[in-house]
Amino acid sequence: MRLRTLLATIALAAVAATSAHASARPVTAQDRALLARAATYEEKIAEQVTARLTGRKASVRCGSLGMSDPRVLGVTPLLDQQSFDYFLMRPAECTYLAWFRQAPARWDPRSCAGEDCARVGDVAMALAVVAHESYHVLGYTNEAQVECYGMQSIWFVANKLGAPVAEAQALGLLYATRMYPNRQTQTPTYWSAECRDGGKYDLRPASHSWPS
Ligand SMILES: [Zn+2]
Repeated sequence: MRLRTLLATIALAAVAATSAHASARPVTAQDRALLARAATYEEKIAEQVTARLTGRKASVRCGSLGMSDPRVLGVTPLLDQQSFDYFLMRPAECTYLAWFRQAPARWDPRSCAGEDCARVGDVAMALAVVAHESYHVLGYTNEAQVECYGMQSIWFVANKLGAPVAEAQALGLLYATRMYPNRQTQTPTYWSAECRDGGKYDLRPASHSWPS
């Protein structure tokens, strides 16, 4: 029963955190102002992971996205399928990344305790946002494809931030089973039936471990 309660709590948090990620909007003066200041500790965490994931030096800033929809947690300006090597996230996402880096074991969906469990979904979403926006930095624009590739890279983000592989994979699985399915109805442009083991968007077709 305890496990069931935990899963229900995580699922609730995950539903609340389900979000869109806008991809295409012009570079704004507000972006330039954000990029002009030095990266904070939390932003550097995201930049380091993004660099390892993309092989490119990209800037990350947490601040106003210049978009009013509160469900949008990150944005990567793109023009003609080219990014400007930066993305923005809402400040809360930076906070969750820092929490995770400070104590990865605390956010293990298999063993979280008490009130932390209600935030595991938020933390997993922050990892997913970094992965998702990183694929936009690489120039991908199809949201269903980007979201699917991002989901398959949650484990990588979690692992680079200090989680053992097993925990990192558990976070990817949490996202795949509790959060991704909601996209089919809530944000259908971010969902694809091809996002599955052996599907068109499977980054590792030789492996049957999904999504990590
Ligand atoms: Zn996107």
